[in-house]
Amino acid sequence: MTSDPMFERPIFERMCLIGIGLIGSSLSLAVQRHGLVGEVVGCARSEATRQTALDLGLCSAVHADPAQAVGGCDLVMICSPVGTYAEIAERIGPHLREGSILSDVGSVKQAVIRDVGPFVPDHVHFVPGHPIAGTEKSGPEAGFAELFEDRWAILTPPPGTDADAVQRLAALWQGVGSMVDTMDARHHDRVLAMTSHLPHLIAYTIVSTAADLENHEQQEVAKFSAGGFRDFTRIAASDPVMWRDIFLNNREAVLDVLQRFNEDITALQRAIRWGEGEVLEDEFRRTRALRQGVIEAHQAGSFDPREPEKASKAEPDPGKPGPRES
Ligand code: NAP
Repeated sequence: MTSDPMFERPIFERMCLIGIGLIGSSLSLAVQRHGLVGEVVGCARSEATRQTALDLGLCSAVHADPAQAVGGCDLVMICSPVGTYAEIAERIGPHLREGSILSDVGSVKQAVIRDVGPFVPDHVHFVPGHPIAGTEKSGPEAGFAELFEDRWAILTPPPGTDADAVQRLAALWQGVGSMVDTMDARHHDRVLAMTSHLPHLIAYTIVSTAADLENHEQQEVAKFSAGGFRDFTRIAASDPVMWRDIFLNNREAVLDVLQRFNEDITALQRAIRWGEGEVLEDEFRRTRALRQGVIEAHQAGSFDPREPEKASKAEPDPGKPGPRES
């Protein structure tokens, strides 16, 4: 999708963020930096987050009640864990402004359409979205304005969605530095099950296996963790509630890729057992080529520009931390 010059800045008068964690705070900082939104207001569950959002200038006003927060907003962006969406949608539905856009940043999309769709009034445009950007950190203090630069934002408008609303939302994501693609929600969930959800499940499992080792060995694991294990511990430090909700809400696609993964790992297990070096070498050569494809698509390197290299356009040092996304 190409940038559309027809949208003058600010593109939206007032945006409401429901949930002000890593993604919500980053989006607030980014839209303010680029003058994309006239005013950002928010809704947060805890008093601590509401106060932090005000202290950091993430929002001009923050409410505990989502129904109150969305009043008068022409863009509402749900940025909480996807398990909270149905309740939030039911609360805000009757209070959404006529002609406004309701969107989100959730890491799964079919479940979001299932849970939110029934509560969206006819006079509101529902355009679900997902920025493929993130770190393993959480909360309003974790955000930074550059998070979405050079990353993809995927929009999954249900059939019949107003094309202008989709273009307007795309212009917002392009304004914060993202590339935008639109696709069917089912396709999104299948792709992300492979590229993000399965890798996180594997990371959680490897770190959990290591944690189960007897005390002495466990200490050795931490002490001698080389690049591989260290990177897994970083991914496995991601927010437990957010990831619980992702797996519960993308069950079918995750179980499908997990089945394929199990078959492939069994084949490698067999090759190791029978000393079939050629099988192993062939497989490792094939995966190296895929890595080259990721580098050429400019999706290698770190998502966090505060790390020594924002190496999204270059091959990173294998010893340095890598990207996280969901
Ligand atoms: P986060 O840092 O843990 O923040 C979540 C925020 O949601 C917190 O501010 C929390 O409030 C708030 N919240 C929780 N329940 C709520 C409720 N019932 N009503 C209102 N607010 C509520 O999470 P995040 O990393 O920003 O992720 C947010 C969303 O982005 C998730 O849907 C996730 O799937 C998606 N996403 C995440 C990443 C990533 O890498 N992190 C990437 C792309 C998309 P309190 O602070 O008061 O508890």
